[in-house]
Amino acid sequence: MQQEKAVNADKGVSGNLSGGIFTGKKALILGVANERSLGWAIARKLHEGGARLAFNYLGDALERRVRPLAESVGAELIHPCDVSDDAQIDAIFEQVAQKWGGLDILVHSVAFANREDLEGRFLNTSRDGFRVAMDISAYSLVATARRAEPLMKNGGTILTLSYYGAEKVVPNYNVMGVAKAALEASVRYLAYDLGPSKIRVNAISAGPVKTLAAAGIRNFRTMLAAAEEKTPLRENISAEDVGEMGAFLCGPGGLHVTGSTLYLDSGAHIMAV
Ligand code: NAD
Repeated sequence: MQQEKAVNADKGVSGNLSGGIFTGKKALILGVANERSLGWAIARKLHEGGARLAFNYLGDALERRVRPLAESVGAELIHPCDVSDDAQIDAIFEQVAQKWGGLDILVHSVAFANREDLEGRFLNTSRDGFRVAMDISAYSLVATARRAEPLMKNGGTILTLSYYGAEKVVPNYNVMGVAKAALEASVRYLAYDLGPSKIRVNAISAGPVKTLAAAGIRNFRTMLAAAEEKTPLRENISAEDVGEMGAFLCGPGGLHVTGSTLYLDSGAHIMAV
């Protein structure tokens, strides 16, 4: 058992195999807004596996939602961070460095586009709307991965969330689809850069789940209904499913998985119609 642990620790996934698979692992979760957040579902699974957790929140209003959730899983750090601001990203990573001196897992569960850019014609996306969506939903992965690298001294794992609108046209998803395409490409380039440091980078392409972010997409209910009717499994996924797959990718099961976008969509992506 001891030997197995040492081998895995070298590759930055480990955990104490005699306890939870994440025992002693330090995880920073970016992007919890409330109990429906996909980031929260992943955080809970990591907590169940014994991980030590840190969270960000965006603004005072969300702090009131995030703080009690984070405290319920014994969070060791709860810090503001708007990922569109380099100084705030620096600050939260400095906090992590001071508190833990290292990091094993980074969960990036962040996205934003202006509401007016999530309906109607993609053609009408403004320069600023395009910039904002790209900055917060895609560039922030690069910016946070860069700060995570020096803390992941024994290797580590970085996980983000995408959606099929990155690959195919999903009406109303618009600029967010373009941002997710950039995000998925960033996953591949980051995986290449960080591979020698034994840091893995992956994305989950999740089917629709009713969350705060999803509420901003026009006709989201239609997306949910379509997924239920047309997927091979004829059912929608849940936030808990995202938690399970997130834990798998961050844990020993994902040991040699990097640069990948894994579908968690009841098979929706195999359908032509
Ligand atoms: P959510 O609203 O719970 O989470 C989105 C998070 O992004 C929030 O916590 C919000 O505070 C954060 N955020 C937005 N702008 C930010 C900024 N400037 N700085 C820091 N944080 C910021 O919704 P969710 O559905 O859990 O979204 C999490 C991720 O999952 C997103 O990347 C989303 O695109 C992706 N995703 C969601 C679905 C779905 O159907 N819900 C499907 C596939 C992928």
